Amino acid sequence: MRLDKFICKSTALTKAQAVERLLNNQVVVNKAIVNDAAFQVHENNHVTLDGQLLVCGPFRYLLMNKPANTICSNVDDVYPSVLNLLTDLNTEVGSCDVNESVIDTPDIDIPNIDTPKILETTELHIAGRLDADTTGLILITDDGRWTFNITLPTNDCKKVYRVGLSKPLQAHLIEQFNQGIQLQGEAKLTLPATLVQLAEKEVLLTITEGKFHQVKRMFAAVGNRVIKLHREQIGDVKLDVELGKWRYLTPLEVASFV
Ligand code: URA
Repeated sequence: MRLDKFICKSTALTKAQAVERLLNNQVVVNKAIVNDAAFQVHENNHVTLDGQLLVCGPFRYLLMNKPANTICSNVDDVYPSVLNLLTDLNTEVGSCDVNESVIDTPDIDIPNIDTPKILETTELHIAGRLDADTTGLILITDDGRWTFNITLPTNDCKKVYRVGLSKPLQAHLIEQFNQGIQLQGEAKLTLPATLVQLAEKEVLLTITEGKFHQVKRMFAAVGNRVIKLHREQIGDVKLDVELGKWRYLTPLEVASFV
């Protein structure tokens, strides 16, 4: 395979960006700097970009039911990473005892970055993060391009949340959420969101964006407060494992985001 193609397949870089990295002498193949985009490499060649090993698949795609008091990045001073909860990745179905690794601490704000980002990493990471206190569906992969597709706002990837509220839902909000909500600090209204009332203080919310703390901010903007947040679905993938458990995605589920 051509080296520029290898770089594109193993990162989320475009061909032009891959060529730029090559011309900047950032790519090393088997210990030698290579800047020829047409250079032929095999999947088992040792290729690094800025010192980071590039792996050209096969990639791993998993879903997990994230417990509360865990975080969606690799390290944190307070909470354990959800990645710590992945037991033997070579088994078909995994599980873990979260109680051992979860610590009871006061809630803090942890940024959720659900915006598109060129991922140049081949490490396992979360495609669409959740706050520390949010539970539910997260997707985990080492395929940066796949993550990029999922988080691209123009892809309209729907996310379904079960939301517990501090006050009863006012009926007119169903229409207001559909029209768009003005979030504090944002120039534009949120994209149309669907609200389905499940109980006086419980709703199902479907959104297609992933702004920072979006669900909490949407309800804060209309004078309510999220007291419980659980993600049930991303795209067509529905959560079907117990809290703290994970499984590999089926090929069909992986392909549904491409
Ligand atoms: N919106 C939030 O406010 N928090 C999450 O964890 C996910 C979406």
